[in-house]
Amino acid sequence: MGTLNINHELDDQIFNTINPLDPEEFRRQGHKIVNFLADYYQSIEQYPVCSQVNPGYLQKIVPNSAPNNPESLDKILKDVERDIIPGLTHWQSPNFFAYFPSSGSTAGFLGEMLSVGFNVVGFNLISSPAATELESIVMDWFGKMLNLPNCFLFASGGGGVLQGTTCEAMLCTIVAARDQMLRKISRENFGKLVAAHIAGIDPGNFRVIPTIKANEYTLCPKSLRLAILNDLKEGNVPLFLCATIGTTSTTSVDPLRLLCEIAKEFGIWVHVDAAYAGSACICPEFQVFLDGVENANSFSLNAHKWFFSTLDCCCLWVKDPSALTNALSTNPECLRNKVTELNQVIDYKDWQIALSRRFRALKLWLVLRSYGVTNLRNLIRSHVNMAKHFEGLIAMDKRFEIFVPRKLAMVCFRISPLVLSQVSTKFDDEKEVNMFNTKLVESINSCGKLYLTHGVVGGTYIIRFAIGASLTHYRHVDVAWKVIQDHANAMLNQGYV
Ligand SMILES: *Cc1c(COP(=O)(O)O)cnc(C)c1O
Repeated sequence: MGTLNINHELDDQIFNTINPLDPEEFRRQGHKIVNFLADYYQSIEQYPVCSQVNPGYLQKIVPNSAPNNPESLDKILKDVERDIIPGLTHWQSPNFFAYFPSSGSTAGFLGEMLSVGFNVVGFNLISSPAATELESIVMDWFGKMLNLPNCFLFASGGGGVLQGTTCEAMLCTIVAARDQMLRKISRENFGKLVAAHIAGIDPGNFRVIPTIKANEYTLCPKSLRLAILNDLKEGNVPLFLCATIGTTSTTSVDPLRLLCEIAKEFGIWVHVDAAYAGSACICPEFQVFLDGVENANSFSLNAHKWFFSTLDCCCLWVKDPSALTNALSTNPECLRNKVTELNQVIDYKDWQIALSRRFRALKLWLVLRSYGVTNLRNLIRSHVNMAKHFEGLIAMDKRFEIFVPRKLAMVCFRISPLVLSQVSTKFDDEKEVNMFNTKLVESINSCGKLYLTHGVVGGTYIIRFAIGASLTHYRHVDVAWKVIQDHANAMLNQGYV
């Protein structure tokens, strides 16, 4: 037997100097951070929206190794201000119009705080019953707000789960579809499954079906059928279709009903990716986008994009949860428990890739309760109205063209090739038109007054203007438009061309 050589005194001393979860310190420092962030939001417009630092900037200004001794929160916050903030792109800035929004809110933040504060790991029911139960409840609430068909709600045998991101939701559903298909066909056919390669499916079996401008870049049912028939002819097994409500480049809305009908005919799993646009479907006037969703197998949206719930909060609903759990459930001995064995309870670990999971439902619950459905709808509508307003501003300036009709709160536009071709014949070349628009975006973003990003569809470079940052108001949209015009003027007049 070895000698126990434990220095209790030293341990007590450590505990007295550095209790990592001392409630009073928690209170004191927590308030400081909240104040710091409130000041940040208040002064957010003073920073260039897109960070202007060069790659590697931070390495040059921070020490080479972690400190041996404690440093005060005040000192750390000073460094955050001096070293970190310049390296931030300010997604919460009212002048952020890039990508899609990452809409923050007080309720989302507070919900996140509660969740982080409790810091429970709710992999199964018993590990924190409230985490699981609240998640099922808010997913049904949200599903009802979206007017999702009952078959996606728990009451009717479906159900929802919170994932981190759309990519995770998609992987889970592909795996569910794959295993469901493999139960029907033999395993030898694995190599013939056609979908996305991340789930062990050969990259060569991943089909990208081209879309065209005449169809506003939506997936054409005819093209889908052709692609399916082609695969069947070659002995492949079409497995999974991802239809998109609100594509990233142009917020196009695929014709869900028609696509689902075709998929159904061939036994293909349909996942509806409504990462951005899904949130808008709490407004009855946008629910037409979901027409036909009752024939899909799964549906997801990112509440952290346009639903005031800070990253991460991807809502996934499935019609048949057993398809998910059959593919994803794990039963390590350490998690075996009577509640699971005696009751038919939800163990959300079986609905996702990882075992551990956060209590994300609190965040959504706080958002839903703090704002209420009516206000949430009106907030979404206000963003859509601002985008309409912006679209109106563009329409008044003939040097610009709106590239595809606006669907929600994102406007796609560019400098009109016609206008450019009057300036120089070199703009008869589409590449030169793209280059001009690329330079325009670079010029705008480098001034720091706003941030926007681009897309390329069918070889055309388009400028995207996505409204949805929680602090954005009409005046920001107006100023942004003025800045865009100024940069276009400068480029058109100063002989860039
Ligand atoms: C944002 C977005 C994604 C990616 O979402 P993640 O949550 O980052 O995985 C996928 N599809 C669409 C349509 C999106 O807008």
